[in-house]
This record gives sequence, C-alpha cells and structure tokens, in this order.
Amino acid sequence: MSAPVAYQRVKEQLENLKLLVALSELDGVLERGQKEELSMVEVIDSLLELELAARFERRLKTNFQLSGIPVQKRIEEFDFEAQPQVPKRTIEELATLRFLANGENVLFLGPCGVGKTHLAIALALKALEQGHRVYFLTLHDLVTRSAAARARGRLDTFFSAVLRADLFILDELGFLPLAAQDATFLFEIVNKRYQARKSVIVTSNKSYGQWGEIFPDPVLAVALLDRLLHHATAVNIRGESYRLKQRRDAGLT
Ligand code: ADP
Ligand code: MG
Repeated sequence: MSAPVAYQRVKEQLENLKLLVALSELDGVLERGQKEELSMVEVIDSLLELELAARFERRLKTNFQLSGIPVQKRIEEFDFEAQPQVPKRTIEELATLRFLANGENVLFLGPCGVGKTHLAIALALKALEQGHRVYFLTLHDLVTRSAAARARGRLDTFFSAVLRADLFILDELGFLPLAAQDATFLFEIVNKRYQARKSVIVTSNKSYGQWGEIFPDPVLAVALLDRLLHHATAVNIRGESYRLKQRRDAGLT
C-alpha cells in the first residue's frame, strides 16, 4: 500500500473509531514526528495521548454540569485568617481527597455565613478535577426532587443517581424540618452509601444534639448520625458570618 493510500485509510479509520481528536491532530503529530525524528511508537503514543486528554477534559465538563454545583468556590479563595475556627491543616488534608478514597464523610457545622458551603464546594471541585462524579443537593432540592420523582413513579431512578455519585454533598441540613417520607428517604441514601463506603459531605447549621428536632423520629436522627460519623471528619465553625465581619471591619455596621 502506498503512503498516501495508507494515510487516507488511517484518517477514515480514526473517524470510524470516533477518535476525532486524533483525527484532527494527525497532521500535526506526523509533522512533529518527522521534524523531531520520533519513533513510530512515539508518534502513535502522542496521538493517543491527545485523544485521551481531550476525552478527560470532556468528562470533567460533563461531570461538572451534572454535579449541580451552584457556584464555583475554591480553597485558594478561602480566607483562613478571617475564620480561625477552620483548621487549615484539616482542610488541606481533606483536599488531598484521601477521605474520598477511603469512603469517609465530612461534616461542616456552624451558623450561617461561616463558609460551610464554600468549603464543601471547594472539596467537590477537587474531586471533579480528579475525574470523580459529584452530586450536590441542598436538603430542599432533595425534598422537592424526590417529591417530583415520586409523583412520576421514578423515585428509584433519582435514588440510584444519588447513590452512583462518588461524592454526594448534602447542603443545608437543618433549615427545614423533614416530613417522615423525606427523612426515611434521606436515611436510606446515607445508609446505602455508608454500606458501599461512599463519601458524603454534609453542611448543617444545627449541632448534633439539635438534629433530633429536624427529624420526625429522633431514633432516625441517631441512626443517621451513627452512619455519618462512623468514618468522618467534622469541622465545627463557631465564628461569625464572613460577610458581616467584612462589613463590620469596613465600618459599615
Ligand atoms: P455557609 O454555607 O456557612 O452559610 P457560605 O459558604 O455560603 O456560608 O459563605 C457565605 C459567603 O461568604 C460565600 O460567598 C463564601 O464564599 C464567603 N465566605 C465565607 N467564609 C469565607 C472565608 N473565610 N473566606 C472567603 N470567603 C468566605
Ligand atoms: Mg451554606
């Protein structure tokens, strides 16, 4: 087979195999191969690497879109000096994602505005960057989505979606008391994820002792806490609201 025919066939085959990045990069890689006198195997390697890198990027983008993360917040943007209650070392340790590999949970507890959601999202973004699937829901989302799914007879689908995620973030536990069926549903999720050793991050403005007030049945609250805390890092933030503090420091209040 002549070289031009082989070249044409490679292009067609890359297209048939849907290696579209490799296809579009083919000429560049071949040229570079010639210029830098790369071996044939190095040329193939570069081509495949470009395809895989593009696929990984695409996966990250899709995972982010599916994650439900409402805003991007990064650890680098977190002002640890303004919030001395948050141990920087603990957050740095969490940012290694060892907790995720070990299926451990993370709880951010404290009043409104102290950065609980910020830190939860920052860890979620780290997990996404490593290619993990993340599912972020406020407790309110969980209640409304499960109600909608239940009405359509699709509760199982929603339940599986929450279970499938490598990291599940439940934001704002404690803002509203739970109806019995929602409390049971939440318990089922936490329990199944616990059994599968899959991580959950919870943020709450209530201390553990007050969780009984959110649940219609205090026994359920205890059982839920038992699962959540078995392998967990809890970060208690007792400071004041970051924005309020900023405004006060600026002399606005
Ligand atoms: P919470 O979830 O505890 O109610 P948030 O995480 O939503 O609080 O924080 C409220 C706002 O203040 C967010 O915009 C967040 O990025 C910001 N914020 C809170 N604490 C800090 C901090 N220590 N450094 C930088 N920004 C912060
Ligand atoms: Mg919050």
